[in-house]
Amino acid sequence: MRVLKFGGTSVGSPEALAAVREIVRKQAKRPLVVVVSAHSGVTDRLLQLARDAVKGSYSLTALRRRHVDLHRGLGIESGVVDSLLQELDDLLQGLSLVRELTPRSLDLVSSFGERMSVRGVAAYFSAGGVPALPVDAYDLGIRTDSRHTTATPDPRCYPTVRRRLEAQLKTGAVPVVTGFIAKDREGNVTTLGRSGSDLTATLLGAALDADEVQIWTDVDGVMTADPRLVKDARSIPVLSIAEASELAYYGAKVIHPATMLPAIQNRIPVRVRNTYRPEQRGTTIVGTAPRTRNPIKSIAYKRGTILITVESSRMLLQSGFMARMFEVFARHELSVDLVATSEVTVSVTVDSERNLKPVVKELSGFSKATVERGLAQVCVVGEVMRERVGVAGRVFGALRRARIPVRLISHGGTKINISFLVDEARVQQAVRALHREFFS
Ligand code: ASP
Ligand code: MG
Repeated sequence: MRVLKFGGTSVGSPEALAAVREIVRKQAKRPLVVVVSAHSGVTDRLLQLARDAVKGSYSLTALRRRHVDLHRGLGIESGVVDSLLQELDDLLQGLSLVRELTPRSLDLVSSFGERMSVRGVAAYFSAGGVPALPVDAYDLGIRTDSRHTTATPDPRCYPTVRRRLEAQLKTGAVPVVTGFIAKDREGNVTTLGRSGSDLTATLLGAALDADEVQIWTDVDGVMTADPRLVKDARSIPVLSIAEASELAYYGAKVIHPATMLPAIQNRIPVRVRNTYRPEQRGTTIVGTAPRTRNPIKSIAYKRGTILITVESSRMLLQSGFMARMFEVFARHELSVDLVATSEVTVSVTVDSERNLKPVVKELSGFSKATVERGLAQVCVVGEVMRERVGVAGRVFGALRRARIPVRLISHGGTKINISFLVDEARVQQAVRALHREFFS
């Protein structure tokens, strides 16, 4: 049993959908469940429509066009979404009368994207000889709490979901299930948060005790470095969830680790694959990755790092200084990333200017605070470094040979990453030097 998830872009054009149908056809020899997002651009448009409606006027023309044009390109009947468009129109009409948008009605409006998408996709699969059936996730019994727009699924629904899906599978048609949407205990439609279809896929994987969850996207998986900086960057075959989490922070173009948890906790591998290059193996993310010879899996970086150094000659022997300092950051919701200390200074990095001014002002009330911009953070990630000596030596040796000065160094508490700052202008050189050191 496998779960295959295709995102908005993968189901966003006739070309992409042709590739998707072939991927499904090839794997359909064994039981599988397909999860899809709304066609690309549709969720954003629905949210806009809801906002327009409460202001008094909205137009469904563009949304209808999006579906009609796509269906025409696919050679299927657009009638499959007519009744949903009508229902949506009624709903928006209602919103434009009450002029009030609650998170609950917002969820209801945005649910139409996936509901329309599964109907078009299933029709297209069936027309091409891959019998398929559209399924609304809540009809499988997927239940969440009532935190609208970011609802959390309740694992107690898994047995029901499994029973219903297994019954579906007996018909021989591939279930094409809505990502992103569910219902709460009271029967209100909820959504799992933006990009929530990944979570739908991993929770179905968990409920079904699947062999694998495949997340089909537009990259070859997670790379050893940003291919825009490093020409011979390649995709990483296996990554642990801890490594993936570190990399996700740096914006590695992968699914968010939190959305993989239901699968990982149930020991189901999540494989990230490229819809446009299905011959590539992609990256498999697992709870515990096998040991590799290379202690490093990937080199990530992030530009626009701001370094704040807080100095206090009285800090020595003074308890509670750190607490006082971080309380300021917390109160202004400025989230701190790297931290390094000496006897009289604490250096921290942040990646946003938002609320920086008031924070620095308050810090200056009880210490000397300086701000430096124009820095980038580089991070070398790999679980195996935990048990190898000399990794830090290799990292800093490579940087010394490339004559790149390094600022603030942090070796994470989990010991699976070494992070440091360099001048923003030197980040490409730094990443290349490290990639050469560990991957060529
Ligand atoms: N359609 C939803 C969104 O755009 C969910 C998803 O794509 O996974 O956020
Ligand atoms: Mg998406």
